Amino acid sequence: MSIEIRNVTKHYGSFQALSNINLDIPKGELVALLGPSGSGKTTLLRMIAGLESIEEGSISFDGIDLSDVSVNQRDVGFVFQHYALFKHMTVFDNIAFGLKVRKKRLRPSKKEIEHKVNELLDLVKLSGFAQRYPTQLSGGQRQRVALARALAVEPKILLLDEPFGALDAKVRKELRRWLRKLHNEIHVTSVFVTHDQEEALDVADRIVIMNKGEIEQLGTPSEVYDKPASPFVYDFLGNVNLFHGRLHKGKLDLGSARFDAPDHLHAHDTEAVGYVRPHHLKIEREQRSEEAIAAKITFMHSIGPTWHVEMKREDHDAYVEVEVSKEDYEQLGLKVGEVVYVSPKEMKVFIPEDFVI
Ligand code: ATP
Repeated sequence: MSIEIRNVTKHYGSFQALSNINLDIPKGELVALLGPSGSGKTTLLRMIAGLESIEEGSISFDGIDLSDVSVNQRDVGFVFQHYALFKHMTVFDNIAFGLKVRKKRLRPSKKEIEHKVNELLDLVKLSGFAQRYPTQLSGGQRQRVALARALAVEPKILLLDEPFGALDAKVRKELRRWLRKLHNEIHVTSVFVTHDQEEALDVADRIVIMNKGEIEQLGTPSEVYDKPASPFVYDFLGNVNLFHGRLHKGKLDLGSARFDAPDHLHAHDTEAVGYVRPHHLKIEREQRSEEAIAAKITFMHSIGPTWHVEMKREDHDAYVEVEVSKEDYEQLGLKVGEVVYVSPKEMKVFIPEDFVI
């Protein structure tokens, strides 16, 4: 089923939690709602589920407005951060629950339920755990049972609220790969809330980046990461260096250096900030262009094949972070305390009106 969200606004008393949200999720897509705490992700998810009322705007599934459809008729599966499994029931009974409580005429036979549960146990890689109780499972296993339970009733839409939030980093990583694989197999339209950038970038087909109740940007992981639409998205999705200067006719002037800013050819002496990711800065031993800034290396460390070089600008009381490959690092022969020159390979310049106050 597809989801269409139109002009949705939500208030809690005088506080506006969502303002004018518009979003289309095609059938079978896996979408992440990503944003800092309080940005409205859970509120939006709960509205899709029917757990919060819609005051303004509309939400439809396959073009059918939900305002007249009750929560139980929405065909939605829900997985929360805290695996709300029934403690007194075995894994089998937990998964079978949604099928067993159906009205008699809709309830599958005992045999059909058994077949379905076994199929799901297989899917979530927990065959052989059917007779265990939730307390006899690890956190990751419990979350997989919660997912199997949500899938048992064959929902048309799957909603996940920080499904891996309570798990440790390694298990989270395993489970998000597994969720991606599972989604590729079953293709149920899925929306999951996370505040973990890496998780969203790793798993989702598209990411909705939320800030203060609004959508800042919507795009594929590479679109939002490589082409952030606003300073907020730049900051939120990974490390970034800021270069403050004045923008005039396609040049960002820092005083000590001048960067090309071809998107702003008509700017007329305005304040602006250049945003550069650490891997989009290059280090040279000589000052080869007006774009190069002198900086002294203060700290270096490696993570896998990448070296992180931290330096202090000579022209300004500010630090710059650069990521270089192991090969470049070795070729340059960098040492702490040396002065080198950094210049941007790629930069995006924002002017004050781009900033959300
Ligand atoms: P988190 O990552 O911390 O869960 P979130 O992005 O999911 O955050 P929401 O839970 O949607 O954020 O909350 C958005 C805003 O609405 C927050 O400022 C929150 O305090 C407020 N809010 C949420 N639910 C209620 C409520 N029932 N009554 C009043 N305010 C609420």
